[in-house]
Amino acid sequence: MPDTPPQAGEVETVVLDGLALAQKLRTEMGEAIAKLVDEGHRAPCLCVVRVGDDPASASYIKGKRRAAKRIGMESVEHHLPEETTEEELLALIETLNADDGIDGILVQLPVPDAIRPNAVAEAIDPAKDVDGVGPINAGRLVMGEDGLFSCTPLGILEVLDHHGIEVEGAHAVVIGRSMIVGKPISLLLQRRNATVTMCHSRTRNLDAICRSADILVAAVGSPRMVKADWVRPGAAVIDVGVSEVDGELVGDVDFEGVHGIAALVTPHRRGVGPMTITMLLHNTLRAYRARTGS
Ligand code: NAP
Repeated sequence: MPDTPPQAGEVETVVLDGLALAQKLRTEMGEAIAKLVDEGHRAPCLCVVRVGDDPASASYIKGKRRAAKRIGMESVEHHLPEETTEEELLALIETLNADDGIDGILVQLPVPDAIRPNAVAEAIDPAKDVDGVGPINAGRLVMGEDGLFSCTPLGILEVLDHHGIEVEGAHAVVIGRSMIVGKPISLLLQRRNATVTMCHSRTRNLDAICRSADILVAAVGSPRMVKADWVRPGAAVIDVGVSEVDGELVGDVDFEGVHGIAALVTPHRRGVGPMTITMLLHNTLRAYRARTGS
């Protein structure tokens, strides 16, 4: 007899503890780095570049550098003034590309209007592109090759694997088609043999499409747009979106509403955010190993 599909209200919903999962992976990386250093190797080094004085960027960079330090990874920061030209930023990237002591380069977005983000992404050495933003790594992702891929999507795969969510053969619906989340997670899920539907602002019948998802990834930045009745009972719901409403951070998913419906849901705090930083460290360690052969 076929299993009866679960009904709304019957499902026990697991809430991801993204901080705990991130901590577990960071501890493993910290041990690996300590071993490398014990063996006489230098520690891996992440370089972050900030242009201008966006307060959110300053706080994101602080979090990334603190996380690096905690696992024994070096980090350096270049803070350039708002009036920096694209030429000046590209010249700095060229210097960092040539610096053997630097394994990963991340240029924190947004950059000032005078600088084209794509020009920055193209300038970073693909072997040091730990944010997975450049065209070579994007191409490798499309071609099914190994490479350094965008951190949030890599974190989402870790979350699904950690919770034993079967990806192969699943119908995955991704809302959002950005270069940093929507597109790479769609491709990564497809590489893992999910059947992927990519949705965006012009998608018709979005709610009905979402209801057919075994895995639903919301990466929009629209507060609580995914309602409880958009979720199929038993689905895994990954909420990437972060928006501010009345001074409070909220996700793309009606988090409370999907309790008893989703089998797994990620909260907007302690959810995929800590996993994004963790995968940045992971990519930096991978880049270090590939570059140094350690
Ligand atoms: P983005 O570049 O602004 O892309 C948003 C996507 O959502 C676009 O593809 C857009 O479609 C689509 N969209 C907009 N309105 C829609 C609607 N009504 N229905 C369906 N799709 C719609 O954003 P992003 O950089 O991918 O980030 C998405 C969210 O995730 C943001 O809230 C961001 O803050 C958050 N985020 C969180 C983390 C983390 O670590 N927690 C990391 C990265 C991003 P079109 O392409 O048609 O415009």
